[in-house]
Formats: sequence, structure tokens, C-alpha cells
Amino acid sequence: MLNGARMARESKEARSRRFREIVRRLEKAMPEAKIALEYQDELQLLVSVMLSAQCTDAVVNTVTPALFARYRTAADYARSTPSRLGEQIRRVGLWRAKSKALHAAMTTIAQEFGGKLPRTREELCQLPGVGWKTAGVVVNHAFGTPALPVDTHVGRVARRLGLSRQEDPRKVEDELAALLPEKLWGRAHQLLIWHGRRTCESRRPHCSRCVVLQLCPRRGVTESD
Ligand code: SF4
Repeated sequence: MLNGARMARESKEARSRRFREIVRRLEKAMPEAKIALEYQDELQLLVSVMLSAQCTDAVVNTVTPALFARYRTAADYARSTPSRLGEQIRRVGLWRAKSKALHAAMTTIAQEFGGKLPRTREELCQLPGVGWKTAGVVVNHAFGTPALPVDTHVGRVARRLGLSRQEDPRKVEDELAALLPEKLWGRAHQLLIWHGRRTCESRRPHCSRCVVLQLCPRRGVTESD
């Protein structure tokens, strides 16, 4: 069993092998793990991911059907106003800021990208309100571009598993990505999110029923049940 002292001496190769085994076990336990946001095309995906910041996917999924029915293209959003967009997303947390960001991002897509969603993470980050994590989720799911974006769940679980000691999401992503082949990046992202939501919860990790218990140096340390 791995402990904290052994983990500190763990070579990069050993950590990489351990991470791949973690991904394998999580995949076996949760083959159904997938993005919970509901969307039909890449533009809808971007909108959903932007709305999901500090909000549950379930709540986002309650507002997007009506939003997507009314706004089909980036130009549709651009012709609207932040306040009209805000009326449609009021159930989503931070709706005022998000309606402004959404309007600005769609206006930029309409005016500077010919109405088409940019295909690279760097270009997506030029859109108002779109950060590195959001761009990573979009390129991964919309275009199949390898990415391992780090949200609050991925970061917390990665630190508990001793796969990274970094707090900055981009640094965590760089460390995780260096441990896995590109073809596993997107899957690792999704599985760590689900593991963080279902088992390695923020306040109460359920170590006793964790399928990667044997591979975790933090097992039981923060468990309170
Ligand atoms: S053993 Fe506990 S702390 Fe480690 S990954 Fe599992 S739930 Fe999280």
C-alpha cells in the first residue's frame, strides 16, 4: 500500500504507472462517466460550459433548452443584449456576469471568427469570459483535441492522490498531462470529475468505498464517516 513517505520518493515513471492504473480502475467502476451538460453542437457546448461555472450541470440543463431554441447562431446572441440574455438564464448562478460574458463572446465569434467556433484552445481563450479550463473542455468534446482541463474536482482529487502538489489549475494540468499518454487525457479529466463528485467529495471523501484506495496516499486521512 502506498503511504505519504513512499509517495514522496516515487519516481515519475512509477507515478505515471500509478496514474494509469487509477484511470483504469475508475474506468472499470464508471464506464458511463461522461459530460453531464446537454448540447447539440459545438456552439451550444461552449454556452453550456460558460454557464456551468460555479453552478451545477443539472441547473444549466434546465435553462439551455429554451435558450438554444431562441438563439441558434453566434449572430443571434450578438443581436440580443446582455439583459435579454440574462432574463433567460436567471436560474444560473452569477447570471448577470455570465449574460454579459456570453453576449461579448458570441459577438466576438460573429464578428471576428465568421460565426464559427474557434478550434484551438488559444483562440477560444481570446473570447471574453472563456478561460483555459473552459477552452479545454470545449476542444476536447467538440473537436476531440487531447486536453486534461482541471476544475475544482480534478484538482482536489489529483492532490489527494498525490499526482500533483500544485494549486494553480494550469500547473496541475501540466503535471497530470506529463504522466499520461495524450489519448487518455480527456478520459482522465472526465473520470476524476465523476470520482470527485461521487466518492472523493470535497468535505467527506468516502475512502472506505473508493476503488483506488490502495493507490492513494491520503486514504482515510480526511474521511469522516
Ligand atoms: S482513498 Fe479517499 S482521499 Fe484517496 S482518492 Fe479515494 S476517496 Fe479520495
